[in-house]
Amino acid sequence: MSLEPTLRLARSGELYPSCILHGADDAVRRAAALALARTLLCGRPVAERPCGDCNHCRRITWDEAAGGLFHPDFQVLERDLRTSTSVDAARTFLRGAQVTPFEARGQVFVVATAESLTAEAANAFLKSLEEPHTGSPRHFLLLAPSQFDLLPTLRSRSLAVYLGGGESTDAAALEELAEPLGEAVDGYLKSGNRMDLFAIAGVLQAAGGWQDPRSRRPWELAAAAVTGVSRRGDLSADQRRRFLGLAEDLLTGPDMRVRGIQPQRILEGFVHARLDA
Ligand SMILES: [Zn+2]
Repeated sequence: MSLEPTLRLARSGELYPSCILHGADDAVRRAAALALARTLLCGRPVAERPCGDCNHCRRITWDEAAGGLFHPDFQVLERDLRTSTSVDAARTFLRGAQVTPFEARGQVFVVATAESLTAEAANAFLKSLEEPHTGSPRHFLLLAPSQFDLLPTLRSRSLAVYLGGGESTDAAALEELAEPLGEAVDGYLKSGNRMDLFAIAGVLQAAGGWQDPRSRRPWELAAAAVTGVSRRGDLSADQRRRFLGLAEDLLTGPDMRVRGIQPQRILEGFVHARLDA
């Protein structure tokens, strides 16, 4: 899922208790977490959420220290730089989830670098998700570069929200890939012929870097290029969703590679599954 439909779910009060915000870079993930938290806690009528300037929205911010702003129902667990995020820090943080909201309709807990959670800390989270709570909505937002950085048990209990390709991708390689990919996409959009989907998969494969089955790089590059395609102005909303879905699938490529499946087959499978109308 991408951010827009997730914000709609938040507005209508239907958001999953636990969401993984992954992809893009740290700044984008943090901005998305703020937008979601504000939507969940904003004091204005539903259609106006997040208003950005009510008593709740203004205090939901990352620079608490600088601005002196603080919202008791918006809590953030930052990385413990000495080790990975320790189970003690996670437990202290989760203790807040056992009390009723102080001011807002619900509570939002953000783990800023969820990829650093130890297995023990992740289990403390799972336990907290299962515990009965006070009845007011309680949300966990887990931020990570990729959802696959998190334990499968945590992933299976959370809604994964993909925010697009990251800036860590090699910019030159991305630029080189953009043109042939754009041409292959043009070809398919014009013909609507599923045979032309092979050309799209072929261009992604030709970018190379597939030797190491465990390497995430070629998949991240492909995902970033496809995310770029999803921003084209000539796509319908449905097409945009399909390309974004494809980008998300591409990030799961390494899981299939380590099971011995060839990159060409994986790429063709993903492309057909998402784009074949
Ligand atoms: Zn507001």
